[in-house]
Amino acid sequence: MWEKIVREIKECKKCRLHKYRKNPVPGEGSLNAKIMFIGEAPGAKEDEQGRPFVGAAGKLLTTLLESIGLKRENVFITNVVKCRPPHNRDPLDDEISACLPYLVEQINIIKPRIIVTLGRISTKTIFQLGGLVFKSMSKDRGVIREAKIGEVEVKILPTYHPAAALYNPKLRSKIESDFKALAKIYKSIEEGSKRKYTLLDFLREN
Ligand code: SF4
Repeated sequence: MWEKIVREIKECKKCRLHKYRKNPVPGEGSLNAKIMFIGEAPGAKEDEQGRPFVGAAGKLLTTLLESIGLKRENVFITNVVKCRPPHNRDPLDDEISACLPYLVEQINIIKPRIIVTLGRISTKTIFQLGGLVFKSMSKDRGVIREAKIGEVEVKILPTYHPAAALYNPKLRSKIESDFKALAKIYKSIEEGSKRKYTLLDFLREN
């Protein structure tokens, strides 16, 4: 099923962005990830390598993950659109609509417990999918919501895009604080899973 989506993305010509890409960027990480990070679109480095978040913003994302004890391979990282828009412009609405079924399918397969939206376009798109109202990044970031995306009940944590924080220490400290909140939610989910397991284990043994 996963291979089918990746193959479809690699061959996709559903929107004009296929004309500009060197490589589509389906995403990477663990298919069992409890946390999924969703950015906006691949940039130049990502387009070169066919991998998400490998440029300067990607390095910051990796650092932020490590600061809360996670590695890139523990999570899944992708973007709303899988091909690079020319000159790094924002993806257009019709491009997002054309590409969105891939993202929803990825969410259905991975079944993350937490989605971290990186930046305005990702947050707005995921909010729309979950029937939530997006106000602005300054109002919505750091506030945890719950919604059903595709077939998956998930917590959503919006934060700024790491690229926006590269040269802006104020935004960087806000992202850092959002990652601390993420670590707490992740810990509570992990502890919840362990408690369930222990109870089931007990019932099986008795
Ligand atoms: S951005 Fe998405 S819909 Fe558009 S060509 Fe690439 S994979 Fe297809």
